[in-house]
Amino acid sequence: MKSLYIRIVLVTLFIMMVSSLIAFIGSNLYYQKILKPSNDKKNTEIAHDVVDLFEAASMDESMFFEKTAKLSYQFYITDGKGDGTFYGADFRNQTLSQGVIKDVLNGHTYHGMAEYPSTTFVTGFFSNELSNSIGVPIEIDGKSHALFMRPDIKQQFNEIHILLAVLLFLTIALSMLIVFFSTRYLVKPIRELTSATKKIAGGNYSIQLKENRQDEIGTLAKSFMSMSRQLMQVEQMRQEFVSNVSHEIQTPLSSMKGYANLLRSPSLSTEELDAYTKVIESESTRLSKVSKQLLTLASLDKDQGVIKHESVNLTEMLQTLISQTRWLWEEKDLALSLEADEVICSGNEDLLYQAFENLLSNSIKYTPPEGEIRLFLHKDQRGITFRIEDTGIGIPPEHIGKVFDRFYKVDESRSHERNSSGLGLSIVKKIILLHQGNIHVESIPDEGTAFTVTLP
Ligand code: ADP
Repeated sequence: MKSLYIRIVLVTLFIMMVSSLIAFIGSNLYYQKILKPSNDKKNTEIAHDVVDLFEAASMDESMFFEKTAKLSYQFYITDGKGDGTFYGADFRNQTLSQGVIKDVLNGHTYHGMAEYPSTTFVTGFFSNELSNSIGVPIEIDGKSHALFMRPDIKQQFNEIHILLAVLLFLTIALSMLIVFFSTRYLVKPIRELTSATKKIAGGNYSIQLKENRQDEIGTLAKSFMSMSRQLMQVEQMRQEFVSNVSHEIQTPLSSMKGYANLLRSPSLSTEELDAYTKVIESESTRLSKVSKQLLTLASLDKDQGVIKHESVNLTEMLQTLISQTRWLWEEKDLALSLEADEVICSGNEDLLYQAFENLLSNSIKYTPPEGEIRLFLHKDQRGITFRIEDTGIGIPPEHIGKVFDRFYKVDESRSHERNSSGLGLSIVKKIILLHQGNIHVESIPDEGTAFTVTLP
């Protein structure tokens, strides 16, 4: 497996190579189409100037061309017979067809530079060949000669050559160096993220990543940190949940075990036998209630928003609820009233019944005998409002924000005698949220509590 670092380096080098190639082809096209003809034209003019100058100078041929060649030109002069004479630096390739020479002797100009084959790309410009020259007729000592000339590129561009080579070398070397280091800088945070992921997978959530970068990697680091914080919270909640569940199950179980042991004693009176059996009975009921509530919560968590909807007559539902709990509130001598519009809504009947039942049974549970419970159900344009008010013990302000948390009990010490698990309100909230509704509580200690449920 290639590391990201190697990949980025290779891709960048590849991009550099491809762009150099494209640049080379582009500059060649520019040379072939524009520079080559203009270079030919320029040198043709120079060749004619040299001829004019020679004629005007009336100097000895060899002296004139030796001196002129020093101005960085290469010359070849021939009268078509014999070998001819070279001045200036040597041509690498001295081949030139007799036809060309004859043509120039006949008064034509030879455009060897413009006609030089384009397959050689821009290097044709540097190609030190006799055929890559300009040929013009010249008269020497009253006889027709052909003068071939090309600039001595090596001499003219020597310094520029070196400068260009240094420039090119430095550009390539520095870019490669910078690519090596900058890639390291780019890849480092990703490496850190990878090792952070491994830590999280191993259960270690205390991760520190630099979040100060303003780019995508910075955003990723921020999201990653927030994810690890959430995971840590979830893990804490899970541990708390497990310990709460074990506590809720362990307490009735040990009580049942204790009383079951007592039942073994041979000298038990009938009253004792009856009392112990009742405890075991009520503890098992409690245990079964907790496990039912846990199952409900688990299935609500699983559903996450997808519940079966049907048409529910809430008014009838409340009437049924009141009559089914009658023995509970009548036992405590509570005055219970219902003020309800005819309300039909879309929702899950079983779940809504469970929510209202939990709220009502809480009010019954936490209202002292001879107290009052009032239920209201109204419907307007904004939606449905259900409100349950009691004159019970109320909830102290410091607890009010937590009563919807799982296993939260205001008075832990009395939770057992009240048959309380701390799960009822969390189930209510979950059900209401699954119906896109809201629940809200107001309470004054020793005066009473009111829960308001709104449904869309
Ligand atoms: P529990 O099984 O303990 O009733 P809930 O989740 O239904 O669990 O309630 C959480 C806590 O909120 C209870 O322990 C109780 O102290 C408080 N509470 C709920 N309803 C009322 C109410 N109507 N009046 C006073 N306190 C209440």
